Amino acid sequence: MDKLIKAYAFEKMARIYVADTTALVQEAKDIHDLWPTASAALGRFLTASVIMGAMYKGAFDRDDAELTLRIDADGPVAGMVTTTNTHGEVRGYVGNPHVFLQYDSGKLNVGKAVGNGQLHITKDLKIRDIFTSSVELLTSEIGEDFAYYFKSSEQIPSVVSLGVKVDENNNIIGAGGIILQMLPGFKDDHLNAVEDAFKKLPHVSFMLEDGLTPEDILNQITSDHQLLESMPLKYHCDCNRDKFERGLISLGEKELKTMIEEDGQIETVCHFCMKKYTFDEIDINSLIEESKK
Ligand SMILES: [Zn+2]
Repeated sequence: MDKLIKAYAFEKMARIYVADTTALVQEAKDIHDLWPTASAALGRFLTASVIMGAMYKGAFDRDDAELTLRIDADGPVAGMVTTTNTHGEVRGYVGNPHVFLQYDSGKLNVGKAVGNGQLHITKDLKIRDIFTSSVELLTSEIGEDFAYYFKSSEQIPSVVSLGVKVDENNNIIGAGGIILQMLPGFKDDHLNAVEDAFKKLPHVSFMLEDGLTPEDILNQITSDHQLLESMPLKYHCDCNRDKFERGLISLGEKELKTMIEEDGQIETVCHFCMKKYTFDEIDINSLIEESKK
């Protein structure tokens, strides 16, 4: 089962998050019919997103923060969107799921598949205004882009390692990530120890493919750690008919009537889970009536 662990490490001068997201990335692959490089791109993005959401658990004495992360870029994947909360639930989609690009080595070429663009992170912490911060993508391999985001937007030195391994049948055999963030008061020695540890560390997707748990991976990074928490992770979409009704109402009476006249019904599809919601003429007329109240 997918899970995330949080720990202090390096004399409590760093916080480490280690996630196994193999099952939830497989679910994303199944929902969206992702080809391997699209799986790797969205899988890395989902992993970084769900870890980031978990960082806000318990912050500000409340647990209902929501994050929306968006990559707008010019590669064939045509952008990606995820949303996540503080409870280990995440969902996402890509503009174009059918992307398979490799380096000469055979490694999936996520950077080229994603292309040049920006990472936008919108935080709704439910305490004050919603705010969005944006950074340029550095390599578009996702991990480096998040490390750059933490450094430039939040002034936190971080290590971000994300990985997705796809087999010859396009199935996900290992997906996950590690995010390490330095804590206030750290010294150069701590930073050097972190760098040494990550230089020696096998890639996270290989460790997960080999059957290592997040705890095993944490032990491989350092034995100097203190486990804080463990939480299950899952792909979860909370869409419902209500949300789509509100979206339809916002189109206005005239537009809705035209659509019904042309097609007899209106079908909407959730981008995140591909669930369909169908509205016939009776549904639409009652929506129009209700919107007039
Ligand atoms: Zn949905």
